[in-house]
Amino acid sequence: MFKPKAIYYEKEILEYPLGKQLIKQYENVEKIEIDNHNNIEEMRKKQNSEFADMKRNLIIGIRKTHKFVENHKTSDFLVPYTSSGCTASCMYCYLVCNYNKCAYLRLFVNREQMLEKIIKTANKSEKELTFEIGSNSDLILENTITGNLPWTIENFKNVEKGYLTFPTKFDMVDDILQLDHNGKVVIRMSVNPETIINKVEFGTSRLKGRIEAINKLKEAGYKIGILIAPVIMVENWKELYLELIQRLNQELSEKVKKDVFFEIIFMTYSFVHIKINEEAFPNAINLYNKEIMAGRGKGKYMYKIELRKDGEIFFREQMKKYFPTNKIEYIV
Ligand code: SF4
Repeated sequence: MFKPKAIYYEKEILEYPLGKQLIKQYENVEKIEIDNHNNIEEMRKKQNSEFADMKRNLIIGIRKTHKFVENHKTSDFLVPYTSSGCTASCMYCYLVCNYNKCAYLRLFVNREQMLEKIIKTANKSEKELTFEIGSNSDLILENTITGNLPWTIENFKNVEKGYLTFPTKFDMVDDILQLDHNGKVVIRMSVNPETIINKVEFGTSRLKGRIEAINKLKEAGYKIGILIAPVIMVENWKELYLELIQRLNQELSEKVKKDVFFEIIFMTYSFVHIKINEEAFPNAINLYNKEIMAGRGKGKYMYKIELRKDGEIFFREQMKKYFPTNKIEYIV
């Protein structure tokens, strides 16, 4: 269980049941009142080297913007939901592009308002919509603090139309295994080779736990996807990812293998990551390699196109061999 060093909170959270619950839950933790979770001066002034320490705090506020962003991958909309940021520190975390060093975990207590908007949009639509509720954080991790997932699933299960989906890198799924979800929730586990998890994905669950969690979730009736993401082209990457695919083939249950779908995403890196990582994790491996990466605007880098093409051929060949009947939604 995450024990915050301090809690920074907007006083309006006390008008919400979840806000009251969280303040009580952490009654022995130091509390600092703030005006706005988006602008904590004390945090803004900290050095990049304090990045990991900043993530030991918990920020609690009210989500004010509720704009849905259209998406055309595994969902129809990316939806701002009950948290943003994370207590873990994956060196490539996409949230660092949005929040810079302030990518710490923020919880939003106005969950009724957020879920109501999803339900209204789902019911109004002519077609069945899928809402991605975990694009800003990791909801399995968040759930260990808030209990928001059972609450969300219980309140969504009888909605006439629509599905919820979220990705995760965590294995603490026991809380949601007994729930009646009515087939309306799609959980996508993100995996990487064990050595990459150990060297790059600090503070997340290990590969073994993630595979076990997939099997348990499937047994509990959830629809399951697997993200092989982000693919990181370290020197022996083909060997590592082949081992990963073989391990998935061996350790996933037959039930999972029957209809699990895959998403494969090559890493995007950025100037902000380079700056933060070299100061916050000086002994970690360097993920930036100018020989194999090219700029793609706004300080971001991707692997060069010819490498990504080669990577796509590699993954399609290996997946055909080990998961011949499973759908690859996309490789990007
Ligand atoms: S688990 Fe996800 S949200 Fe958390 S640091 Fe890693 S990539 Fe970012």
